[in-house]
Amino acid sequence: MPCKSCELEPVISRRYSGEILCKKCFLRSFEKNANKELRTQINHLSSELKINRIGIGLSGGKDSTVSLHILNMYYKNRGIDLIALCVDEGIEDYRSESLDYAKKYCSDLGVEIRISSYKELIGMTLEELLRKNPPAGSPCSPCGVLRRRSLNNMAKSTNVDCLVMGHNLDDFSQTVLMNHSRGDIPRLVRMAPHRYVQSGFVPRLLPLRRLPEQEVYLYAILKGMNFHDGDCPFASKAQRNIFRKMLLELENKQPGTRHSLLNGMEKIRANSPAPLKLSSCPSCGEPSGGNGPCVFCREFGSFAV
Ligand code: SF4
Ligand code: ZN
Repeated sequence: MPCKSCELEPVISRRYSGEILCKKCFLRSFEKNANKELRTQINHLSSELKINRIGIGLSGGKDSTVSLHILNMYYKNRGIDLIALCVDEGIEDYRSESLDYAKKYCSDLGVEIRISSYKELIGMTLEELLRKNPPAGSPCSPCGVLRRRSLNNMAKSTNVDCLVMGHNLDDFSQTVLMNHSRGDIPRLVRMAPHRYVQSGFVPRLLPLRRLPEQEVYLYAILKGMNFHDGDCPFASKAQRNIFRKMLLELENKQPGTRHSLLNGMEKIRANSPAPLKLSSCPSCGEPSGGNGPCVFCREFGSFAV
């Protein structure tokens, strides 16, 4: 069937919405969706802060590369500074390659880039840490704590007002389902995109959260973008893989499930009180969810450089 708007050959059939789109209509629809989402998220925050400088968590993979492309397209020439913030976990044969893509794209766009490593943060690469302290569960748990700390440190030291992340609809709906399955409503309500500014914590925004992973991939390919298309060697150990598999099956049988999970999460959030003010970790002074030390200090305090 041809594109419903202009009768040209289609590049995509969206089962969740019934749209059939040619290349031009798909690109336009994708950009409109991402830009509208970002504008809405910025508007929610703008009662609390003025956005002059935006950081983007960049890995060189498709999601963050497309997010930077969208930001550059809509925000760079509006007097807003962009800066790419990259994390080097020290994963051999993986991260240095993806960072090469990140550096090249930033240089093409004239966007400043900063890279911070786990080695600088805790004196060890992720692989050295895993050898020294093998985790009981997935390596992604310590990696996630270290990544959040590295990004928040860079975001604060570069004075960005908010941090854009590349999470797509698949990532987002998996996280919603994971939080539901644990009955963890406080965490569900606290998820990015953040609506409130918490002292010491740079709010995160997610322009691609309503766009499925396959569409982000298609967009990057159709735009001829160069991105790193490899998986972390530890990716098969991630706990979220089971949720990914379940959601793909559900989406296949019931198109629109991922969007419904997102919309349901927003309804719960709209009916929840504003999150409690984060306390400061007594050890490092960074924001902490509870009254005691933050998760970084609890798990890596003895290694912190
Ligand atoms: Fe870290 Fe897991 Fe992501 Fe690899 S897949 S970079 S270990 S969070
Ligand atoms: Zn701490």
